[in-house]
Amino acid sequence: MALEPIQIFPDLWQFTDTCNVYLLKHGDEAVAIDFGSGAWLQHLPALGIRRLAHVFLTHHHPDQCAGLQAQSPWPFDIHAPSGEERFFDPEQVARGDFDARYKGCPDTYAVLPGGIPNARYDMAGFGDFFWGAERIRFLLTPGHSANACSIIVDHAGRQVVFCGDAAHAGATIWQPYHLEWDHWTGGGALAAWEGIVRLYGVAIDALCPAHGPVVTDRPRDLLKRLARKLLTLYHSKGQISPGEPDAYLTPEIMPCGAQRLLPHLYHFGVNGYLLRSEDGQGMVIDPFSEDMPALEALLGELGDVRPTVATATHYHADHCDGIRYLRERHGCCAVLHPWVAEPLGEAAHAHVPWLPREPIVPDELWPARGEWEWRGYRFTVAPWPGQTRWHCVFMTRVDGMAVAFGGDSFQPASRWNGTGGYCAYNGSRFEDGFVASAQLIMSWKPDIVVCGHDTFYTYNPSKFRKIIRWARAAQSAVTDLCPSGNLEQDYYGVSQAAAAFFWAAAR
Ligand SMILES: [Zn+2]
Ligand SMILES: [Zn+2]
Repeated sequence: MALEPIQIFPDLWQFTDTCNVYLLKHGDEAVAIDFGSGAWLQHLPALGIRRLAHVFLTHHHPDQCAGLQAQSPWPFDIHAPSGEERFFDPEQVARGDFDARYKGCPDTYAVLPGGIPNARYDMAGFGDFFWGAERIRFLLTPGHSANACSIIVDHAGRQVVFCGDAAHAGATIWQPYHLEWDHWTGGGALAAWEGIVRLYGVAIDALCPAHGPVVTDRPRDLLKRLARKLLTLYHSKGQISPGEPDAYLTPEIMPCGAQRLLPHLYHFGVNGYLLRSEDGQGMVIDPFSEDMPALEALLGELGDVRPTVATATHYHADHCDGIRYLRERHGCCAVLHPWVAEPLGEAAHAHVPWLPREPIVPDELWPARGEWEWRGYRFTVAPWPGQTRWHCVFMTRVDGMAVAFGGDSFQPASRWNGTGGYCAYNGSRFEDGFVASAQLIMSWKPDIVVCGHDTFYTYNPSKFRKIIRWARAAQSAVTDLCPSGNLEQDYYGVSQAAAAFFWAAAR
């Protein structure tokens, strides 16, 4: 790591620490923008700095500030954006629940375990701070964090902007997965867009980001291009099959509240399906523990069906954590697709959202692609990555209809923009995910697709043609924001980041 000071302008230096640290000197005093590891402090005497007066943190990520844990109190003031308390303040960090394995996208992908004591949360958008007569200004530029700030100073006749991770050379975003504030909406992208538009409005002679090179060649042009890309990302988080009719099936509502879709196929609770065989056995698809009372009510009303097999379209807890109940109460055999079984078998070690609390090991595995038979039903099974990589699809004929069990990847257009969403943390894939899955279902040509969260609809190939176009556009939108242009490294790197953070937090 090059820790030699790089002079940007007289009395303004950059250190390539765990993030870029910028040091600004007046007389024999200095302030720093971000802190990194703090290894750069050793250079202060050689630069003629007797006293470091203030450290301004653009946001809470550990690469900005981990070195601040080495000592407390420090002989300088630590300033952080207001609103970032819960990611910095040791008591609030200790109380916070940052273990994101059992829920959706976390509030942050990286927080410093232990926090940082004694920070002042006095950096607020459109506010300023006087360092002597020097007016240091703050602009809210969310993205890596909802409260992240850029810092503006006048220096050596120039207006210099320290933008943290709001922008990166090449009109990109460092680790763009930080803009995914939830698993499916473009809320983070939209907030980041607004911040970049705000920043574009000010004069900039040098744009100093937290990673990558300083930009002095037309930095506002970079911001203009970045704003456009962020808006494209936002749009890609929207509708995936625009204008497509929902084509909902009309079920028969049963007295117990369950829905009869076909004489042998019932929907119960939020996610569950019950497929009955001629000889009175039942196969339960996507058993969610909270749906089990609805299943019992359905079984009670039917009176002549005994569940013997359970399976799941994907590993999310709301589609499989009822397997344990079905095994214990009904002696069901759990049959899983190998891709679905993968994160479930190692539930304590996988770093993916919505894991069930306990591992689920199947009694039998399906082939990854192939056929499987159960009591007269012949199933075709295949991987079906979309909302998450660890997802499958299976199709069989029920009462003369080809029924595809589709889980969470593709919803009717009026439900959640037609998708369970995409995000890096959920392992959503594009060309080898949504596109491949849409192509597969178009080759299978089911009559109906029955999905999670109460949705079941008539299959129409035009929906999936639109999805293919959308997925390719979404892939470009994300790739265009990656500094390296490499999705695996910059975008899917979220899983390593989440794993590293989890183990650090567990220590
Ligand atoms: Zn960051
Ligand atoms: Zn799901």
